[in-house]
Amino acid sequence: MIPTPSLRALPKDVILKLACSKTTPLSLKQIFTIGRHVLEHKDRKALLIPAQFLHSELPIRLSQSVKMINSDEMPCGMGSLPSFRRISNRILEDISVLTQISKPNNLSQEENFTASLRILLKRHRYNMLSVGQGFKELLESTGKRTTDFCGEEFQNFFDKFYTMNLGTRLLIGEHLSLHDEGRNLVQRISPLLVAEKAAKDAKYIFEKHYACKAPDINIWTQKKRIHTLYVEENLHRTIFEVLKNSLRATYEFHHQNKGPLPPVKLIMADGDEDVTFKVSDQGGGISTSEMPKIWSYVHSSSHHSPDIQLKEDVGHYMELPLHGFGHGLPFARLTARYFGGDLSVLSMEGYGTDTYIHLFREDSCPENLPKVSKLNEEFEEFVHQLGSSQHECNDEDVDKYPAVRAIL
Ligand code: ADP
Ligand code: MG
Repeated sequence: MIPTPSLRALPKDVILKLACSKTTPLSLKQIFTIGRHVLEHKDRKALLIPAQFLHSELPIRLSQSVKMINSDEMPCGMGSLPSFRRISNRILEDISVLTQISKPNNLSQEENFTASLRILLKRHRYNMLSVGQGFKELLESTGKRTTDFCGEEFQNFFDKFYTMNLGTRLLIGEHLSLHDEGRNLVQRISPLLVAEKAAKDAKYIFEKHYACKAPDINIWTQKKRIHTLYVEENLHRTIFEVLKNSLRATYEFHHQNKGPLPPVKLIMADGDEDVTFKVSDQGGGISTSEMPKIWSYVHSSSHHSPDIQLKEDVGHYMELPLHGFGHGLPFARLTARYFGGDLSVLSMEGYGTDTYIHLFREDSCPENLPKVSKLNEEFEEFVHQLGSSQHECNDEDVDKYPAVRAIL
């Protein structure tokens, strides 16, 4: 039985305890090792290890997201807007479900817990889409324009909030993948194959958008057969976003000239520490004054669809339009940074842009989880109005995961 999400079922001692508990960031190697352990043991009981870890860790991570929304650092008082209140309450409800489910100690409890994760993942995605709605409310309530919200505090909030979300999705996704498909998301991948797929997909989206042939994407590397531990989807998304930008810039800068569009060049280099991708285009570059804006979650130079960033009915990132959402680059950068990599952009205005994506090969680098500030007073008051638990809050709920420690 999966408990119904309800704020009433959330005792204040539980939420207060979670709010001051520390997250346990994992490295690629740890996630991979847990997954391999599960897959090598044909016994489904091995799934209890990641399930128990998630049972303890997810409520802590979710409570960090609640803290972000209810902190004084939240820009422009966004936390008190109806959509952010709704997101906060929905996350609290998710915590209520997870804390009511008993720690999975046998197969049927594990099944039940995993079923609750499926629901949670859907709700989580919906929450992330509601952030767009929150922004719309902010524009309406202040009468300002999107360009007024390119400040650093804004970027910091979204960077932290989306980074935490990326981690939550990764942990849940990894468990569901192990459970349902018998494979792990963190795998030894071929960065070259991922780049080739991203190039094909970016060209496809380009051609759908402009109804003309996309510029060539010429991929060059000295070493083809390299492998590294990573999450394929994260690397695909990062390269895909960068390539979409380069294709678009190339088109916009050159399409009025007769003749073919200049190709985009993608170089992959294999180093001891990093696998690096450099994407070079001749799309006219970015002016110095525009440069800081490219990292804004709400800025896009797109004129075709100025309101698209507020649309809610988008699903997977591959379904987004070629441009106009304004999330591409900042999201690509936080994804690259999640396991110690980075993304940077260098421009030559009047000629083109070079974008570097660094993938850190050190697979023991922990998840780059954000530091979360203190709760604001209104939220503390709200928590104190919640009831107390019927039973003593179980220390094991926020314990430091002995099951996982045992195999790492
Ligand atoms: P979107 O593509 O939805 O506009 P992004 O975050 O991907 O959002 O990019 C933000 C902005 O940065 C783009 O609108 C564009 O103005 C600029 N930009 C990014 N990459 C390039 C590039 N390779 N060449 C020129 N401009 C770029
Ligand atoms: Mg883009």
